[in-house]
Amino acid sequence: SEARLKILLSHLNTGNTSFSGLSFGVPCRQASAPQQERNDYVIIPRNPMFTPRITSREQYSRMYMDSIQDPSTFWGRLAQDFYWRKGWNTSQPLCKYNFDVQRGPIFVEWFRGGYTNICYNALDRHVLAGKGEQPALLWEGNDAGQDMRLTYQDLLSYTCQISNFLLARNVAKGDRVCIYMPMIPELPCAMLACARIGAIHSVVFAGFSAEALAGRILDCHPKVVITCSAFKRGNKLIDLKTIVDASLQLCLDRENFSIDTCLVYHNHRASLREDTSWKGGRDLWWQDVIPGMAKEAPLEWMEAEDPLFMLYTSGSTGKPKGVVHTVGGYMVFSAVTFKYVFDHQPGDIFWCTADCGWITGHTYVTYGPLLNCATCVIYEGIPVWPDAGRYWQIVDKFKVTTFHTAPTAIRTLEASGDKFVKKHSRKSLRLLGSVGEPINSKAWWWYHDIVGEKRCPIVDTWWQTETGATMISPLPWGWPLKPGSATLPFFGVQLAVVDQNGNEKHGACEGFLCIKGPWPGIARTLYLNHDRYEQSYFKTFSGYYTTGDGCKRDNDGYYWITGRIDDVINVSGHRISTGEVESVLNAQDTCAESAVVAIPHEVKGQGIYAFAVLVQGATPSEELKRSYLLSVRKEIGAFAAPEVIHWTPGLPKTRSGKVMRRILRKIACGEENDLGDLSSLADSAVVDDILKSKPSQ
Ligand code: ATP
Ligand code: MG
Repeated sequence: SEARLKILLSHLNTGNTSFSGLSFGVPCRQASAPQQERNDYVIIPRNPMFTPRITSREQYSRMYMDSIQDPSTFWGRLAQDFYWRKGWNTSQPLCKYNFDVQRGPIFVEWFRGGYTNICYNALDRHVLAGKGEQPALLWEGNDAGQDMRLTYQDLLSYTCQISNFLLARNVAKGDRVCIYMPMIPELPCAMLACARIGAIHSVVFAGFSAEALAGRILDCHPKVVITCSAFKRGNKLIDLKTIVDASLQLCLDRENFSIDTCLVYHNHRASLREDTSWKGGRDLWWQDVIPGMAKEAPLEWMEAEDPLFMLYTSGSTGKPKGVVHTVGGYMVFSAVTFKYVFDHQPGDIFWCTADCGWITGHTYVTYGPLLNCATCVIYEGIPVWPDAGRYWQIVDKFKVTTFHTAPTAIRTLEASGDKFVKKHSRKSLRLLGSVGEPINSKAWWWYHDIVGEKRCPIVDTWWQTETGATMISPLPWGWPLKPGSATLPFFGVQLAVVDQNGNEKHGACEGFLCIKGPWPGIARTLYLNHDRYEQSYFKTFSGYYTTGDGCKRDNDGYYWITGRIDDVINVSGHRISTGEVESVLNAQDTCAESAVVAIPHEVKGQGIYAFAVLVQGATPSEELKRSYLLSVRKEIGAFAAPEVIHWTPGLPKTRSGKVMRRILRKIACGEENDLGDLSSLADSAVVDDILKSKPSQ
C-alpha cells in the first residue's frame, strides 16, 4: 500500500500546469457526487414517543470535548456499566499508547490491570438482573416459515453447553477456534462460547471457498473448527461440510497441519446426516455432543488486553489482514457505539443484516446489541429470496424498529422496484443505518424516501475492521443529515485530514483521513504479524493511524468519505474520485451499479475505464453509451468522461459486498493472467463473466 501511495503522490506532484493551484486538499470541485453538492440538510422530525439520547449538536460537542480532553474519566465512567472482576489500574492513565514508529514499537492499551469477560457481560449479567425471559435473538430462516426465538436465558444455557464441549476437547485460553457457519443462532453462540473460556475465535464467512478457508486456517492454526452440514441461501444449496473437508485436506497437503476436532451442526433444513461426508474420530455431530453438556459453564476472567478474536479484512485492496481485537476496549467501544449510534431504547427490535463473517456482524449482530440487552433479528437468507420484498416482510413480522444494512443491498433492492417495498407496511421502523461503502445519493434518497418514508434518520456509519466499531456517524436527531456524509466523529475519535506530506489540515479541506490518538476499539495488532500492522497503518504518516481512505471536511465540519486513497484517478492533472464518476453512472435509470478504475493513457497519464451493470430489461447500445458519457460530461466535466464503458453482468465483490477494484483494474489493463488473491471473492464465476463481456478496443 505504501508503493501505491507513492504512485498517487507522484501524480499529485507532476507539476502539470493544469494542476497548479490544485494542491491536494484544494479541490477544484467537490469530491462527492453532484447531487450531494446541493449541500442540502435533511432534518427528520422527532418522534414524540421517545426522547433521543442526543438531542443537539451542542450536547454532542460537550460530550465529545470531555471524551478528548479527559479520556480516562470519560471512558472510565462508561466502562462502569459492565462487570469487572477486578478493576483496572487507577494509578496510571486508562490508556497508554505509542503511535509514532520513531519512538519505538506501536502499541495501544486500555483498562490495563482490569479483569472481565465479555460473554458474562453480554449474557450472565442480564440474566442475573432478571432479564432471562427477554428475547435475545429472533431468527428467521432462508425459507419463509422457518423461525426461532431465543431468550437471554436460552442463549446463556446454549452458550455454556458449547463452552463445556470446547473445554472437554482441551481448548484453553489463547487457543484459536475457527467458526465457519451460516447465519444460524449457533454462530453467535459459538462466538460467545469461545469468548467465555478465553479462546480466540476466527469467524470465516460461509460463502468462502475451500482455498480461502484453508488460508485462514493455516494463518492461525485453530484447535477446533465449528461448522454446519449444509445450508440454503436463496435457492442455492451450499454443501458446507464438503468445503471444510477439502479445505482441511489442503491444510494437510500444504503444511501437514491437521485439527483434532471438527464440530458439525446438522442442518436438517438442508441436508441428511447420511449424505454428509465424514471423517471418524475428527468429526462430531453437534446434536450428538452439545445437548448432553451442562448448561452452566465456568468463565475465564480475562485481562483487558487479552485477545478476544481475530478477523480477516475484506481484502478489497490486497491480501486480507488478520486483525486482532482485545477484550476490554472492544467490549466498551462496541457497546457504547451501539447505544448511541442506534439510539438504543428499551423495546427496540434491532436488525443488522450483516453476516457474522465480517466485522459488522461481530460488533452489531453479536457483541454490541447483546451487551446492551437488546433484542435482535438474525436472518439466514438473502435480500431477494423469494422476492425483493423479503427484508420488509421480516421487518413487519418482527416489528423491527432499527434496520441496518449495506449500500450494496440498498442498490439491489432499489433496482428491483418500489413495489416490493410498498407491499409491506414498515411502520415499526424508526431508524435506518448504512455501512460498508460510501452510499451514493440516489440510493440514499431511495432509502430515505421509499423505505423510511421520510420519517427515519439514516445513520451512514464509517468504520473499518481495524477500528472495531463505528467511528464517524450521525447520532440520530442530534444534528441535520446530509446525504452521502457520515457527518461527525464518535466520542473519543480524533480525526485528522492530512496532506501528502503528513501535515494536518484545518477547516474545510480534503486529504487523507487519519486518526490522531487511540480509541478503545482500535485493533492491537495483526495476528503474528506486528510488522505488517505497523507498516499498514502507522508508517505512511508518522504519528497517525492512516485509514487508507480519502475524505473531505466541509464548512460545517462534516466528513465525506471520498473512497480509498488508491481510488483517485488522475486524468491530465485532474484528480477524480472513482465514487464521483460512479455516482453519475449510478444515477442513470438504466444503471444498476457501476465501478470505475484507471487505465494508463499515453496523453492524459491516466484514463477512466467504467464497468456498468444494467437494470433488468435494459440492453447495451451505442446510444446508451453516448447518453452515459454525456451525463458524465455534463455533471462533472469532459475530462472525466470514461474512455471505455464495459457492460458487464456483474461486478467482483467481497463477501461483504464491496467491489474489488484491484481485480477490475487488472482486467481493464489487460492483465487477466495476474489477478492476485481471489480468495475473498463472494462469487468467483463473475470474473469469467466480466472477461467474456469485455469490449474489443
Ligand atoms: P482490506 O482492508 O483488506 O482492503 P476492506 O478495507 O474492504 O478490506 P473492511 O474493514 O471490511 O475491509 O472495510 C473498511 C472500509 O470500508 C473502509 O476503509 C472504507 O473504505 C469502507 N467503508 C466502510 N463504511 C463506509 C461508509 N459508511 N462510507 C464510506 N466508506 C465506507
Ligand atoms: Mg481496509
